[in-house]
Amino acid sequence: MKKLVCKVRGHQFVSIKKGEHRLKEYQCRYCKQKYTEDGYGQIVRLTRYWEMNNLLFERHYHNKTAI
Ligand SMILES: [Zn+2]
Repeated sequence: MKKLVCKVRGHQFVSIKKGEHRLKEYQCRYCKQKYTEDGYGQIVRLTRYWEMNNLLFERHYHNKTAI
C-alpha cells in the first residue's frame, strides 16, 4: 500500500489532530497511512496499540486537568 512517492521522497505528514490535543497524529497525504509520535518524539505507525495508548493517555490527561 506504500506509494512510490513515499519511497522516493518520504511520507508527507499532515496533522490530523485538531484543537487542544497534546498527542500528535499525522496522516501521509499520499499513502493515507496514519502515524503518531511515541514517547521519544519518533514518528511511528499508528497501530491499534498506539491508538489505544493515545486514547488512554488523553483520558488520563483530561481527568487530571478536570480536577
Ligand atoms: Zn506515505
